[in-house]
Formats: sequence, structure tokens, C-alpha cells
Amino acid sequence: MDAPDRDVKPLPRAQSEVRPPLINLKPLNWFFDINRAMSLWPVTFGLACCAIEMMSVSMSRFDIARFGAEVFRPSVRQADLMMVTGTVNKKMAPALVRLYEQMPAPKFVMACGNCAISGGPFKFEGQYNVVEGVDQLVPVDIYVPGCPPRPEAILEGVFAIQEKITGRRWWPLPEELPPDPAPKSKK
Ligand code: SF4
Repeated sequence: MDAPDRDVKPLPRAQSEVRPPLINLKPLNWFFDINRAMSLWPVTFGLACCAIEMMSVSMSRFDIARFGAEVFRPSVRQADLMMVTGTVNKKMAPALVRLYEQMPAPKFVMACGNCAISGGPFKFEGQYNVVEGVDQLVPVDIYVPGCPPRPEAILEGVFAIQEKITGRRWWPLPEELPPDPAPKSKK
């Protein structure tokens, strides 16, 4: 038997407009951008298992506070970074768009994990409730792949947003691990 036709509503799309600053002086903007990049305030916002990784990033082992982004805000009006960590379903989409629109500009979005990037493991023929990529709802600045992404990858996403704001990377690149020593033969 064929599945009944459903009313498919179009996905909402966030309105975002960034007006130029009232005082537009290059050295001043450069100063503000560095301050902005070093004090990103993320929204306390997690949708599924990837959110556990976001939480671990704020704990002592990975310690996102070292990079100025530990002030998770419960109000989007005080936040400038939305990490979309988890599966976005169509019922959640209007709420996510509303939250994004309420954030003050300039604001940044990180799609964390395969669900937020493309629907992840829930993308298959016939699925009807998962948004296949949060970029269908809001503009995404950085994509952090993984299912889930490691906390180090989320930190790299923060670094990439800092680089996007200021035009340069502020932190050293991870060192390559030395190759495994050759296994010793048993005597
Ligand atoms: S990407 Fe994987 S870990 Fe992240 S929310 Fe989806 S299923 Fe969970």
C-alpha cells in the first residue's frame, strides 16, 4: 500500500541582515574583531549525542576557557556563537530559526557533527522528519564533521571561526604524532 501523501511544509529560512557599523574605522574594527574572536559566547544549545562532546569541550580536560569561549549563555540575546550539535528535525526547525534570529549580529554558526551537516545516519530515502543539513535553515560558517566529532575537532572549529573573524590563526597547529616504534621481536 502506498504511503499517504503528507502536507510538506517548506522549511523556514532565517532572515539575517548585518548593517555596517556606525563608526567604520579600520584600526577600530581590527581591535573589535580580535576582542570578538577571543570572547565568543556560545548558546547553551544541544540537540542530540553530539552535545555531549560540546559539554566535554567545556570541562577541564579540553578546557575551551583557554580560548575564551567558555561562557555558555542560556539566552541567545547574549550569545554570538551557535554550535548546532545534533540532529535537527523539522519540528525543531522553526525554533532553531527563531533562536538564530534573536542572536545579536555579528553571529556565527558551527554545524557540529554529521547530523547537523547533512542529516548524518538519518539521511535515507523516505525519511520525512530530519532536516538534511542545518544550512537549509541558517547560514553556517564552519562545518565540523564526525559522528560525533572529537572535542579537539570542536576546538578546531572554534579556531576556524576566530580565523574567519580576524583573518589569521592564533594557535599553533597540532603536532604530528611520531610514528609507532617498530615492534620488538620476541626472543
Ligand atoms: S552526528 Fe552522530 S553523534 Fe552526532 S547527533 Fe548525529 S548520530 Fe549523534
